[in-house]
Amino acid sequence: MKIAVVGAGAMGSLFGAMLAEAGNEVWLYDVWVEHVQTINRNGLTVEREGKTRTLNIEATTAPEQIGQAQLVIIFVKSTHTAAAVETARKLAGSDGAVLTLQNGMGNADILSEFIEPERVLAGTTSHGATMLGPGRIRHAGIGATAIGAWAETEQGRERARQLADFFTKTGIETEAVSDVRSVLWHKLLINIGINAITALTAIKNGQILDLEITRKLSRNAVEEAIKIAGEMNIKVRADAVDHVYAVAQATAVNRSSMGQDVDNKRQTEIRTINGFIVREANRLGLKAPVNETLTALIQTLEYHYE
Ligand code: NAD
Repeated sequence: MKIAVVGAGAMGSLFGAMLAEAGNEVWLYDVWVEHVQTINRNGLTVEREGKTRTLNIEATTAPEQIGQAQLVIIFVKSTHTAAAVETARKLAGSDGAVLTLQNGMGNADILSEFIEPERVLAGTTSHGATMLGPGRIRHAGIGATAIGAWAETEQGRERARQLADFFTKTGIETEAVSDVRSVLWHKLLINIGINAITALTAIKNGQILDLEITRKLSRNAVEEAIKIAGEMNIKVRADAVDHVYAVAQATAVNRSSMGQDVDNKRQTEIRTINGFIVREANRLGLKAPVNETLTALIQTLEYHYE
């Protein structure tokens, strides 16, 4: 299959590498010139549990070089989805599929404004990756991937099933899900309960559980979001707060992605995580003060990066 990855940072490079190693024609597109040049010169280096492999993979800063792809995978940060959508639309041509496995909410909606919703697939992945430098990533964790059609039509579902089978055959274990919005919300609730709090306090994920007052802050943010989900007729698991705590425990020594963004003075995905809850609450005439406070604090921090 010819596959184009839009946003070939840590995750885009990882998925590109796994798909290229399975024999597909993969192109990485990124605006980061040094990264692209390094891949073209020295190959893409992937580190996993201390072992390193380097593979040849096409990378470019000029998407017109790629031509049309059967599958376009969007892996820019959610803050850049709107900037990347036009490129994705062109790469997918008239019948390619476009898949987002990004965190945050609103990505698939943005894609669907420009690309027929029947061709838009969304999902989550528990693979993890870290950027080590230009042309170099670490495959930090392996986990399941779930994908589903954004337009819940039979055609969309069939596309999701086919892609899930294809990914699984390439070694990326993937399940096709019928209610992808609920799956995205589950990931969202985890990000809501962990990311901003750890980013603001410089703690690791597991440290959220150390003090009752921090656990309560996390719980309040998640319960607020669950209320909004209910208003939107989205099904979320009954034990969502306990699940967030379990994820914090399972990833106890990790610094959340938002924490890493703040540490490196990068823009975070706050607008599509806690900020999404605030926007939806406003739209519904409700209030989400905990998420509004967390969003305001992160945005203030971002604004004053030096
Ligand atoms: P990253 O910052 O490493 O990669 C994003 C890349 O997009 C960068 O290389 C950047 O140069 C590029 N980019 C920015 N604007 C662009 C544009 N307009 N066109 C093309 N490229 C552009 O981020 P990441 O860690 O790979 O995360 C990507 C997404 O996946 C995020 O939504 C993140 O939350 C999600 N995610 C990450 C992980 C992880 O372990 N890193 C796991 C699951 C999901």
